[in-house]
Amino acid sequence: MNPLQGLRNNFRRDRAGDSVAVEMRSVEAGTMHGHRKPILYLENITVSFDGFKALNNLSLYIDEGELRCIIGPNGAGKTTMMDVITGKTRPDSGTAFFGQSMDLTRMSEYEIAGCGIGRKFQKPTVFPQHTVFENLELAMHADKRVWPSLTARLSGEQRDRIDAVLHTVMLADQRSLRAAQLSHGQKQWLEIGMLLMQKPRVLLVDEPIAGMTHQETERTAELLTGLAGEHSVVVVEHDMEFVRSIARKVTVLHEGSVLAEGKMDEVQRDPKVVEVYLGS
Ligand code: ADP
Ligand code: MG
Repeated sequence: MNPLQGLRNNFRRDRAGDSVAVEMRSVEAGTMHGHRKPILYLENITVSFDGFKALNNLSLYIDEGELRCIIGPNGAGKTTMMDVITGKTRPDSGTAFFGQSMDLTRMSEYEIAGCGIGRKFQKPTVFPQHTVFENLELAMHADKRVWPSLTARLSGEQRDRIDAVLHTVMLADQRSLRAAQLSHGQKQWLEIGMLLMQKPRVLLVDEPIAGMTHQETERTAELLTGLAGEHSVVVVEHDMEFVRSIARKVTVLHEGSVLAEGKMDEVQRDPKVVEVYLGS
């Protein structure tokens, strides 16, 4: 059995007892916000570090297939928010749900990654001595705790899947190059490709264009907008021009809460936002 599937089954079994209560709470929360199908929602999340509130009653709702940009000055809580979603940090209070029934505050990081939330960190973590193709092959094996074997024969279906992802992340011509030979931007795309091999429903991307050339930045914009729809994509980014080029809806975080939310030009005209950005 596919280890990921095994994990899912176990997870369902373990949680069968309280799934009804959990679902009622989540449906209520979704309805309150007027969303038909939120895939991710955080409600009234607070995270304290030694009494300092990195997140302060944060509520955030991401729809299925949406592309959302999260901006905000340094220290606003953007990374902490991603840490809560991925289970790295436990909130002191509040609720965090993935889909209708998965309570993220009660799942391990490993379970969260396995059930469809992929996170791309700033620094790419590819296997430099392996080829681009092999990196995607390695990423197909869900269980990161067991070093996968590259000697096992791939099925035709698995090859097709790797080919499709190679094209999506614009690395079809580089498939036989070792990852170490890629440019910085191409390594970032490869890492996105490695996440895609796991078929995530949500992709969290922290500062995707840091260190990229202008051309790489433009192609990254196309890549991320192309991934939305099939995936929900949440992008944290400082570069306003980039955000403007991809954003449908922008959330501005400040001091651990949502300061403003809406279309980029609306948000930019918001006096609260202007004040925070001029003041920082
Ligand atoms: P952003 O990503 O928006 O720049 P962060 O989420 O990294 O902000 O940090 C929010 C606030 O929480 C900052 O003031 C930061 O110093 C603080 N913080 C984050 N992680 C920790 C931690 N592990 N211990 C103490 N303070 C932290
Ligand atoms: Mg950060």
